[in-house]
This record gives sequence, structure tokens and C-alpha cells, in this order.
Amino acid sequence: MKKPSFEDHTYLNSLRQRQTCALHIHWDGSIPFGTLWNFYQRRGGKLFLPERYSDGRLLEGDREIKTRKQLYDLRDGLFSKYGIVDVFEVPTRAMQTAADLKTMARAHCHYLQTQNIVYAETRFAPWYHAQEGGRGSTLTLDEVIGYSLEGFEQGKEKTGVKVKLIVSINREVASEAAEKIVKASLHFAERGVVGIDLACYEPASPPELFENAFARTFDSPLKRTVHADEMVSEEEGKKNVHTAITLLRANGIGHAVHLHKNPGLIQLMVENHIRLESNPISNLTCGFIRDIADLHLDTLAKQGVKVTINPDDPQMWKMGDLVHNLYGLGKLYGGQFIDTVLRNAIESAWGLSDEEKQVLREQT
Ligand SMILES: [Zn+2]
Repeated sequence: MKKPSFEDHTYLNSLRQRQTCALHIHWDGSIPFGTLWNFYQRRGGKLFLPERYSDGRLLEGDREIKTRKQLYDLRDGLFSKYGIVDVFEVPTRAMQTAADLKTMARAHCHYLQTQNIVYAETRFAPWYHAQEGGRGSTLTLDEVIGYSLEGFEQGKEKTGVKVKLIVSINREVASEAAEKIVKASLHFAERGVVGIDLACYEPASPPELFENAFARTFDSPLKRTVHADEMVSEEEGKKNVHTAITLLRANGIGHAVHLHKNPGLIQLMVENHIRLESNPISNLTCGFIRDIADLHLDTLAKQGVKVTINPDDPQMWKMGDLVHNLYGLGKLYGGQFIDTVLRNAIESAWGLSDEEKQVLREQT
């Protein structure tokens, strides 16, 4: 794995000065671990490492996380060590009541403010925070979304950062459950929710399983995005992106790590004005690419794809902020590329008015 060095502090700081927008960022994956540690300390009760390693073996010995360092260390080799859904239990278990959801929404806004991100389309899977998720919540899906939106309003008042929500379907659920999630999202269309998403473990749950759920949004104001071609083979990835666009009518595609190899898909993306939500450091850290240059984002942008750069889960590994992603790409492709992707994020945002876009264009 070839990770950028981040040694050029002057360049890194110059990027930190830029106002940015994030279109692909998971709420639970972006809560600073310090905030989580303080939360668990305050609440009392115990915090545990995941039950199993990623290969299915049970963890031996004491799983309790007793020190701040142990919690921070959880970020090392996260997805190679533990199951991808399991590690998110640490943040999601801190988001099971109305008050906790609001606290974490404010914490998310605060994190975005520290990153100079002025607008975010933040996604989360309400299932994990509702009674259905089995993590202690007694809330309905509607209550989860409603309280979250209240929290983001409070966060906006404190920080000035505007957050719109994308509701993710955690793809391990059955299709009826997925429809239930979409129904709840539709209740909040034009009240803070701007779209739906298909997320989590891709190999076992291809997009075609969610046609009915996605179809519920076809005549609604909600947009659609799909995590596709992230965790699967090149062939399967190509199929999943194609299905997401043609069957689920995606307006955005998260990842698509092999897109550069498929002229037909590139054409589909361009013709349908579909935004590419790329997450280079996430792909690198999770081992889906060996080098961020493998994504060929410069060639894609030159071919007319609306390439946007995103942090995905910036707190789940080190050096994962949006600015680190921009650093790696800026060093590869130069300042003009960075200008293009920052502008693309404004142009392809779903929750900004034309006036707001104009203001951001002038400031970015
Ligand atoms: Zn993601």
C-alpha cells in the first residue's frame, strides 16, 4: 500500500484554508474518538472490542476497552482485523436515544467545522439506531431521522455548518425492511433528507435486490446513490455500477474503483450527469486499491465524469480527513484538478440552492 507522506505541511495547510463540501461522509464514521471516549466515560457502562476477527475467529481474552489509548488503537488495521459492520458498533451504540443522537449530530457539525467543510451530505443507516437494530434503542425509524435532523439544526446554529441527510439502507436487511427505511426517508423529503443510499457489505447484497425500495423514490424529490464497485471483483463491480444506474436510477455512485477501465460505464455516468463520489484514502486503507493513482481520477475528470473527493469514514483510520484525500491527489495531479473536484462537489450537491452554490463558488 502506498500512502501519501503528508510531509509537505505548507501544502497541507494551504488545503486546510479552502472551504469545502463533503458529499460522501458517514456520520458514525466521522465522530472523533475523543468524543466517543468522553461519551462512554460519562454514561458509564462498558465498551468492548468486536467479538470476532474479520476471518470469523473469536477474540480471545478480555475484550473490554479500558483506556483511551485502547480505543484509539482500534483504528489500526481496522477492517483487516475486524468485521466491517462490527467496528461501527462503537460509534452506533453511542447513538441510541434522542438525546444521544442530538449530541452526536452536534459533534459531527463541530468536526466538519474543524475541517473547514461548510456543507455536508452526511449519511447514516437509521436501522442501527432504531429498535430494529437491536442495539438498545426504543426509537422508531421516523423518530431516529427526526431527532437526528433536530440535532443537525442545533449543530448548524452553533457552527454555521449546514448538513443535509442521506439515509442509507444497510444492505444486509431484507427487501421489505429496505422499503420500510425508504418509506421513513420519504416522510422527511424536503425537510432535511435529500437522498437515499445503499451501503455496507457489498459482496453478499448486489443492488438488484433493492429495486423495489429504490423505486419508491422515483417520483419523489429524493435523490439516489449507491455504494458500488468497492469491495467486489472487477467484473462484479462493473455489473453493480451498471445495475445501480439502469435499475436503481442512481444519481450518484460511491467508489466505482474500476470505473476507469469501462468506457461504456463512463459514458453512462457522463450522459446521466451522475456524480462520482470517490473516497481514495478509504479505498487505500481498506485494501481495495494499492495506490490512489490506481483510480485514474484525472482521466475520468477529463472525460467529463463529475468526480468529487470524499473522506467516507474519516475517524475510523488515521490521516483520513477530506484534506488528506485532497493532498494525495493534489500531489499527483496538481492544483487545477483540486479546483475542479471542489467545484464539482458544489455543482453536484443535492441540498444547496442556486444562490448558496453561487456564494460557495465565489468562496472556494
Ligand atoms: Zn461510504
